[in-house]
Amino acid sequence: MLISTLTAFACSNFYYQQTLKPENDTKNTKVAQHIATYIERHPMVDVDEYLTNIANTGYQLYFIAPGEQKGTFYGATFRKQNLEMSMIQEVQSGKIYHGILQFPQETFVTGFFANELMNTIGVPVQIDGENYALFLRPNIKMLFNEMHILLGWLTALTVIFSILFVLLNTVFLVRPIQQLTQAVNDVASGNFSITFTHDSKDEIGQLSKRFSHMVTQLGQLDEMRKEFISNISHDIQSPLSNIQGYVSLLEDEKLSTEERKQYVAIIKNESERLSHLSKQLLMLASLDKEDYFIQKERFSLTDQLKQLIRQYQWKVSKQNMMVSLSCPPLFINGDPTLLYSVWENLFTNAIKYNEPNGTIDIIVKETETTIIVTFTDTGIGLSKAEQQRIFDRFYRVDETRTSQIEGTGLGLSIVQKIIDIHQGTIDVRNASNRGTSFIISLPK
Ligand code: ADP
Repeated sequence: MLISTLTAFACSNFYYQQTLKPENDTKNTKVAQHIATYIERHPMVDVDEYLTNIANTGYQLYFIAPGEQKGTFYGATFRKQNLEMSMIQEVQSGKIYHGILQFPQETFVTGFFANELMNTIGVPVQIDGENYALFLRPNIKMLFNEMHILLGWLTALTVIFSILFVLLNTVFLVRPIQQLTQAVNDVASGNFSITFTHDSKDEIGQLSKRFSHMVTQLGQLDEMRKEFISNISHDIQSPLSNIQGYVSLLEDEKLSTEERKQYVAIIKNESERLSHLSKQLLMLASLDKEDYFIQKERFSLTDQLKQLIRQYQWKVSKQNMMVSLSCPPLFINGDPTLLYSVWENLFTNAIKYNEPNGTIDIIVKETETTIIVTFTDTGIGLSKAEQQRIFDRFYRVDETRTSQIEGTGLGLSIVQKIIDIHQGTIDVRNASNRGTSFIISLPK
């Protein structure tokens, strides 16, 4: 408000100096000339009485006879009587004095209010062949009528009420911001259970709603992070303690060769499990990076799937399973290494969670825009609730059912991540008789 007041004052000052001051000068020159002409044309009039009357209508006057050092003042007194004698003499010699126009320009003072003899209009008046001088300026105090007082009050009250409303508004505005700041501090110190509600529809309300949403998500992420770390610790810890246990058993010299072989096999198995887990963790970590660089190229999907089946032929035969592949000669655009690990994960799951003598069908179809790959097995199947969770990291369905089966619970999270990177989708359904179908759609 202070800045706008100062700016408005500077602008109006400029306007006064440029436009109003010359107009004011012209107007008052005319009034002074009228008075002088009237006195000159009516020699019988009592000048003293006439000028008193004029002064009473709202003017300040100074009338001075030739040769005199001091004249007579009419109307309200001048604050400064600072007119030089030479000026007075010039007016008496017939010149018009434009004191209002020539009044010095000062930054914060409009000459309009300067109650000085210098700030007047001077005109010559001839009485009986003698040259008098009459100086005139409007009496500003008298110009301020009721209308001006009303306007003054209006301005003052507007300013006062504006300040009050701004203060009031600030209190309402600052309170939720203070609460928000407190909430931000709480979150920064790790407390995600804050309840911050500011139900207004304005920007602050919007901000607090978004903030609450963000805090809920951060809380969930934090939970996931903690769960993730505890899962990793557990999954690393258990093979390590197995290895340690069997290594100390191996130190016993009385062990038979048979037992020794069995313990070494277990240690080998556990270290392989550890290696597999760390590989999967590394892969997830690198896929998690926002700027994961995929090396897309066009390659034969048919050949890749055939290679996959060949690689696991021994496992399939061992469990007496049947594998069928229905795939037209098809090329796909994608990262071959990443997509291979997708098929590998789905295929090994279909083997792991299948029944002995079961079947695995791999069907590839193509539409105008997508390639759809379906892996169907005749295995233990998944309930609706389990289907919702199998893509979560470390999730394994009911350990009692799958405890005999090797796994980390990371494979499908990796699959989903890779499919996401390829802008595809993955869906899981119950197969028509029994078992599970994983359906992957990839853009061509
Ligand atoms: P894992 O290393 O345990 O196989 P995944 O992430 O690949 O981890 O799978 C997560 C869980 O989903 C598995 O532990 C298993 O319980 C379930 N699952 C995955 N594929 C199948 C399937 N074809 N049939 C039944 N259950 C499955």
